[in-house]
Amino acid sequence: MDTTPLPARTEVAIVGAGPAGLALAVTLAASGIDFVVLDRLAEGANTSRAAVVHARTLEVLDELGASEELIARGIQVTRFAVRDGSRRLLTVPFDKLPTAHPYTLMVPQYETESVLLARLRALGGDVHRPHEVTSVVQDEDGVTLTMSTGQTLRAGYAVGTDGMHSTVREASGIGFTGSAYSESFVLADVVMDWAPGPSEVSLTFGTAGLTVVAPLPGGHYRVVATVDDAPDTPTSPSSSSCWTSAPPARPRSRALPGPHVSGCTTGSPTTTG
Ligand SMILES: Cc1cc2nc3c(=O)[nH]c(=O)nc-3n(C[C@H](O)[C@H](O)[C@H](O)COP(=O)(O)OP(=O)(O)OC[C@H]3O[C@@H](n4cnc5c(N)ncnc54)[C@H](O)[C@@H]3O)c2cc1C
Repeated sequence: MDTTPLPARTEVAIVGAGPAGLALAVTLAASGIDFVVLDRLAEGANTSRAAVVHARTLEVLDELGASEELIARGIQVTRFAVRDGSRRLLTVPFDKLPTAHPYTLMVPQYETESVLLARLRALGGDVHRPHEVTSVVQDEDGVTLTMSTGQTLRAGYAVGTDGMHSTVREASGIGFTGSAYSESFVLADVVMDWAPGPSEVSLTFGTAGLTVVAPLPGGHYRVVATVDDAPDTPTSPSSSSCWTSAPPARPRSRALPGPHVSGCTTGSPTTTG
């Protein structure tokens, strides 16, 4: 966390230090462009969230000098398998893709953010925390950002990388045309015995819906399943209740303890299309 005072002015104000904001900051730092990254959280989130990193993303991270370390922290999966119960319907291979990264990298989002932040610091940058931007006003010469403390930052440009409920997007009058899925989902990161092992991502259709099992580093698995009726707020982890029908091998599982638990959360993720 960078607690040094904010400058009065910068060329580019980046609001939000998730993967998008950090990637932009690394790009600007490598190009010698003046910028300030602001985030309202006192420290980065520690959840696994976007855990499937595809080849094209790794190609971009190659250019940022961040892919090698990220690959070392993840596991490489070369196929997705689609099943009806225990019967395999089809396999989607990635190992013939014309890329330096013919696989999907399974790695928690907190690792991606950690690697990008380390790269940013190596280039002399950092994230200013905690600073919540509450107002963004544009005029002929630039942008004025106001924090929840009343402090202001003047910038040539403001970039909104502040996630789904973006203050910058709303201030800019940019619409958000996404909508919510009609289905509800349960999501859990668990440790379990799983017959297909960590070499593939499994999508299993059953009478009660779809179950996705994706390997994560450290013997962990991400489980996502459709459920009939998700509560508005996450329930306590109960991974055994995540199964909607017989998977390839009924797992023995336990939800992950410790700070990196995504938990057995339920909800209706918002789409952007
Ligand atoms: C439970 C869960 C599971 C998910 N699983 C997947 C998955 O499997 N695959 C996938 O592709 N995606 C997944 N996602 C979505 C994925 O996490 C997001 O798409 C991704 O984080 C977006 O990155 P971002 O950098 O645009 O924004 P974010 O990661 O949302 O970062 C935005 C940052 O902006 C900061 N911020 C917000 N408002 C302000 C403000 N006003 N002032 C200052 N700072 C602010 C926030 O603190 C945050 O650090 C999941 C999300 C959740 C919640």
